Amino acid sequence: MPGLRKYAKRALSMGMTKAKIISVDNIVVKNWVRIKCQYGCGGYGKRLTCPPYSPTPEYMQKMVNEYSTALLMQIEDIPPAKETRMSRKLKKILAELEREIFLDGYYKAFGMASGPCRLCRTCMTAKPCIHPYEARPAMEACGIDVYQTVRNSGLRLNVVKEEDSCCTYNALILIE
Ligand code: SF4
Repeated sequence: MPGLRKYAKRALSMGMTKAKIISVDNIVVKNWVRIKCQYGCGGYGKRLTCPPYSPTPEYMQKMVNEYSTALLMQIEDIPPAKETRMSRKLKKILAELEREIFLDGYYKAFGMASGPCRLCRTCMTAKPCIHPYEARPAMEACGIDVYQTVRNSGLRLNVVKEEDSCCTYNALILIE
C-alpha cells in the first residue's frame, strides 16, 4: 500500500480536495442502493453508466472481492451552479488517473465516479458509448453505499438537505 500513496498525491494535484488509499474492506455494496436509482433519480435508464445498464450489486460485490485496495477521492463544497462543470472535471481526472495507474503496471485499475455521466448532452442508450475511455459508472449505480464507504474510510459525506446547498462528488479507483 505505501507505494500507492503517490496516486493520492497525484489526485490532489489534479484538483481533488481529498484522496486516500483504502482497503476494499471499507467498500459496502448493498441491493437497496440501486433501487434508489430506479425510484428517486431522474437519470434512471437515460445514461449508459446508470442502471439498468450498469453492473448489478451482485456483480460489483464479486468484482470488489477481486481487489485489495482502492483510491478514494472527493471534490468537496461544490455549489449547485458548478455541478455540471465539476462532474465533467471529476470524470476527466478519473479517466486520466486510471490510465496512469494502469500504465504503471496495475493493469486491473478501474474507476467509478458519482452521478449520471454528463460527458454528452444526450446519451444514445441504444448505441455503444461514444467516449468509452472516459465514461465510467457511478459507484451508487453499481450498488456501492457511498456514504458508508466514505465514512468507513475516515472521510466525511453528509446528506445535502437544501437544493441551494453545496455538495461533494466522490470517485473510486479499484487497484491491485
Ligand atoms: S460518454 Fe456519452 S454516450 Fe458514453 S455514457 Fe456518457 S453520456 Fe452516454
